[in-house]
Amino acid sequence: MLRIAVQSKGRLYDETMELIAKAGIKFQAVKRTLLVPSRNFPIEILFLRDDDIPDSVATGTADIGIVGLNEVLEKRQRVNVLQELGFSRCRLSLAISRDIDYTGLQWFNGKKIATSYPRILKEFLNNNNITADIHIINGSVEIAPGIGLADGIFDIVSSGGTLVSNNLIEVEKIIESQAVLIGGPDNLPADKQTILNELIFRFKAVKDADGKKYLLMNVPRKSLNDVIKILPGMKSPTILPLADENWCSVHSVIRESQFWEIVTKLKISGAEGILVLDITKMVP
Ligand code: ATP
Ligand code: MG
Repeated sequence: MLRIAVQSKGRLYDETMELIAKAGIKFQAVKRTLLVPSRNFPIEILFLRDDDIPDSVATGTADIGIVGLNEVLEKRQRVNVLQELGFSRCRLSLAISRDIDYTGLQWFNGKKIATSYPRILKEFLNNNNITADIHIINGSVEIAPGIGLADGIFDIVSSGGTLVSNNLIEVEKIIESQAVLIGGPDNLPADKQTILNELIFRFKAVKDADGKKYLLMNVPRKSLNDVIKILPGMKSPTILPLADENWCSVHSVIRESQFWEIVTKLKISGAEGILVLDITKMVP
């Protein structure tokens, strides 16, 4: 039985559980008890605060974990990133009041910076020969400049909405983060490693299908070449004959974001009965 540490509630929880569900791993009822075994896969989930996940994996309390790369980098535990999972994307940035005329990184010399990520910040400042006073706060970092607690902040940014509503502006992007699968410093016993390999394989299949759609349509044979040119080439499309031999059925995988761009062109070329279907897994 492999034990995976997952955030018990918060910004990582929903997408982590969705990934696990899409990987076909089921649970009796996730009542968010501390430890929940799967009913169809040899894995159990240990629900923790995200701050505790790197440590739990480094010490072997859990075999693997899912957590933000930002926490991994801040906590400095002996863990390895096994897989990037592509969700909870955000960055760690320096931000200051909008009213300030920012002159570059040197501006931070002698200033006070509020953050929940003191280690990452300290390393960045040292590498850039900036001497600043780091003020550690956990939570609501963005209000610090407004109440005179700090000159700037170093915090998580995603859309930037929180910064705007606190009259702040992002001036330096320091680190890109996303949810990652982490493992401990030691090799796992063979049986656990086998389960882990299967899990990574499934996560990859789910991740690869993300944002992709299966497109199928009927195309007059005479328009086939035009249609093939319009389809963004993942691989060559599948072409199947139809009962009416002047027509064929064309199947292809596209990025969802490309759909509206190409649908009009397809129709102009004579394609009809265009269907877009969800893909939940992709195994090369
Ligand atoms: P916990 O109670 O488990 O300690 P927390 O309050 O420390 O939770 P959350 O706010 O739930 O943490 O964020 C968890 C992780 O989600 C962050 O460490 C970061 O990797 C990511 N994250 C945070 N804010 C955003 C955001 N706005 N957009 C995308 N990802 C984010
Ligand atoms: Mg936390």
